[in-house]
Amino acid sequence: MSYSAPVKDLMFNLQHLAGLEQVARLPGFEDAGLETAQAVLEECARLNQEVIAPLNWEGDKYPSSYHDGKVSTTPGFKQAFNQFAEGGWQGLQHPVQFGGQGLPKSIGAACVEMFNSANLSFALCPLLTDGAIEALLTAGTEEQKQLYLPPMIAGEWTGTMCLTEPQAGSDLALVRSRAEPQADGSYKVFGTKIFITYGEHDYTPNIVHLVLARIPGAPEGVKGISLFIVPKFVLDAEGKPGARNDVRCVSIEHKLGIKASPTAVLQFGDHGGAEGYLVGQANRGLEYMFIMMNAARFAVGLQGIAVAERAYQKAVAFARERLQSRPVDGSSAQAAPIIVHPDVKRMLLTMRAYTEGCRAMASVAAAAYDGAHHHPDDAARAQNASFYEFLVPLVKGYSTEMSIEVASLGVQVHGGMGFVEETGAAQYYRDARILTIYEGTTAIQANDFVGRKTLRDGGRTARAVAAQIEATEAELQASGSAHALALEQQLQAARLAFLTRWPLCSNTPRPTRTRFLPAACPICCWAATWWPAGSWRVRCWWPSASWLRGARPSSCAPRS
Ligand SMILES: Cc1cc2nc3c(=O)[nH]c(=O)nc-3n(C[C@H](O)[C@H](O)[C@H](O)COP(=O)(O)OP(=O)(O)OC[C@H]3O[C@@H](n4cnc5c(N)ncnc54)[C@H](O)[C@@H]3O)c2cc1C
Repeated sequence: MSYSAPVKDLMFNLQHLAGLEQVARLPGFEDAGLETAQAVLEECARLNQEVIAPLNWEGDKYPSSYHDGKVSTTPGFKQAFNQFAEGGWQGLQHPVQFGGQGLPKSIGAACVEMFNSANLSFALCPLLTDGAIEALLTAGTEEQKQLYLPPMIAGEWTGTMCLTEPQAGSDLALVRSRAEPQADGSYKVFGTKIFITYGEHDYTPNIVHLVLARIPGAPEGVKGISLFIVPKFVLDAEGKPGARNDVRCVSIEHKLGIKASPTAVLQFGDHGGAEGYLVGQANRGLEYMFIMMNAARFAVGLQGIAVAERAYQKAVAFARERLQSRPVDGSSAQAAPIIVHPDVKRMLLTMRAYTEGCRAMASVAAAAYDGAHHHPDDAARAQNASFYEFLVPLVKGYSTEMSIEVASLGVQVHGGMGFVEETGAAQYYRDARILTIYEGTTAIQANDFVGRKTLRDGGRTARAVAAQIEATEAELQASGSAHALALEQQLQAARLAFLTRWPLCSNTPRPTRTRFLPAACPICCWAATWWPAGSWRVRCWWPSASWLRGARPSSCAPRS
């Protein structure tokens, strides 16, 4: 069950899809060219292959456990986390000013994929910490940034995202936790949060919870939610963990997958109130939390790609070794490795195509994020930001749905051995199952895509993407190659399907639209759009993709 990081593929995407050489021309990224990327990816691959991946199965067999308010993680995980922190991996994409390495998201995303391929349960802790860091960077006061960011970025403390309550899952308007203002400007936080990933653990001496709660008198619904920092240990005068705060873990969940990742029920304020500090302005919590959620949603999309890659590698290795049935072409009288059988090839190539397609889409999105934050030109920054935000629900929604399909095919390639636990194929399937649920279910991504990302700007971004796809179609058509024409036709059909359905979404009277949207729009618009959005970047590597111009792909065999 070893893991071999796909450094070559990731480097290909960085060069040809993310356009890392252009990214490295943006202010602040001058040292982040291909050479740096190669060195970082190789080092990341080494840590994952040698240290983190070997713990993946252990985590499934010996999940995190709860005893008397404390959580013990799977043996070996804490030591691996120490190595992760010492290597500076938590700070990879975060500002140098707070101790990070300030590398582009394009490179960071490749590393996040590797950590998650190696061990989804392990990588969830840094994933949530990354989101908490982003929220503090955006909305925290200067003092909050100075106090909390350096230890979080150094991996000395971790972060959580405390949104969900028993009655408030997808619908955060129903959040009931409350925060009462105190004379010194702090707040006392009360309430119950459920399903909190790494809400309690033994990796680090402090945990920084970011908590959604209502201040008394706040408006009903999402407009009355504020965001608070609630540290597990309140900081002393020197900024070190001091008194124990009034937030306790009362239990952890027993789950279908990602068993090593502790999913905690947290009780705030049972003994007088948990000390909390407002982040940004009152009642704008959900807006800030969205920053964190967008970061986390993109990263969960990467988790989908990561687990799919791992399932694919496992299936190929098995298919090369398992001898069963003679080849259909009669070339041997002996039972052959099942990889020669057309249907097994079909499954492996489907797994590979889904995984690499989604990875391509994520690479493009990461580069857009870099442009959105570092481009010197205001208009270019805004354009990149819209494009990135348009892609986030697609990266999250599609890559995670895809991962379940790929992990399921992985089980199928193993035959009966896939259904029993000892091969590990079943673990990927079970682990992948959460990805379409947390950070917003697939339905919530679809609603976000249609509502926030398409209707809100009157379809401007969607039409801009469609126009770029059209330009690609013209290039493909001009080539005259049969492969290019086949791709051009698919792109065109999807683009036209989107463009004809889009006015239906925008022009339907509101009451009808509200009914129409959840049912029809997300599904049809999304299905019609993700392919062009992903495939559109084919244009970037088009000049070097000789197979599109007529030559056959260099190899149709599954990559080793
Ligand atoms: C292992 C795990 C880890 C988690 N980690 C965290 C964490 O760290 N922090 C945190 O705050 N939360 C966390 N969660 C909670 C997770 O984000 C929620 O479970 C998720 O948002 C769905 O909410 P729900 O479970 O209440 O389902 P519900 O909201 O009750 O949804 C049930 C079904 O209804 C559908 N549905 C609901 N609303 C709509 C709608 N408007 N349109 C169409 N369909 C809809 C959903 O798609 C779903 O199919 C975690 C959950 C799990 C299981």
